[in-house]
Amino acid sequence: MFEPESDPEFQDDEPTTPQISRMLQPVTAWCTCGNCAVMPTDKENVCCLEIPEIVRRINQVPDTPTCMTHHPGFGPVCLNVYSLQNALNVYKADYGPLKLKGIEQPDGVERGESRTECNGRVKAV
Ligand SMILES: [Zn+2]
Ligand SMILES: [Zn+2]
Repeated sequence: MFEPESDPEFQDDEPTTPQISRMLQPVTAWCTCGNCAVMPTDKENVCCLEIPEIVRRINQVPDTPTCMTHHPGFGPVCLNVYSLQNALNVYKADYGPLKLKGIEQPDGVERGESRTECNGRVKAV
């Protein structure tokens, strides 16, 4: 008998309650850091304070920042162009060409880093 409930990966992809797209909600309905803006895909509509690894990092800073963008590592690690080039080179060496999963790339231009990847970089600060 087919029992999708027994497949843990299937359960991960299946929300337990019906979700309204965040693109259709005011940003204040899901952002608690006060700095988020509505992004063009649901995947990108994530508040930094929803990511436990980021919360753990910002809690390590005295006068705990209210958003990952106020973390002292955010500028040098996530915004510095040379730091980003280096990260891209390391990524390509490990995984090959960058693919932005599920995110359309306008004009086929490589965007460098998606917001989700930037969140990942803050986790690594
Ligand atoms: Zn936010
Ligand atoms: Zn934030």
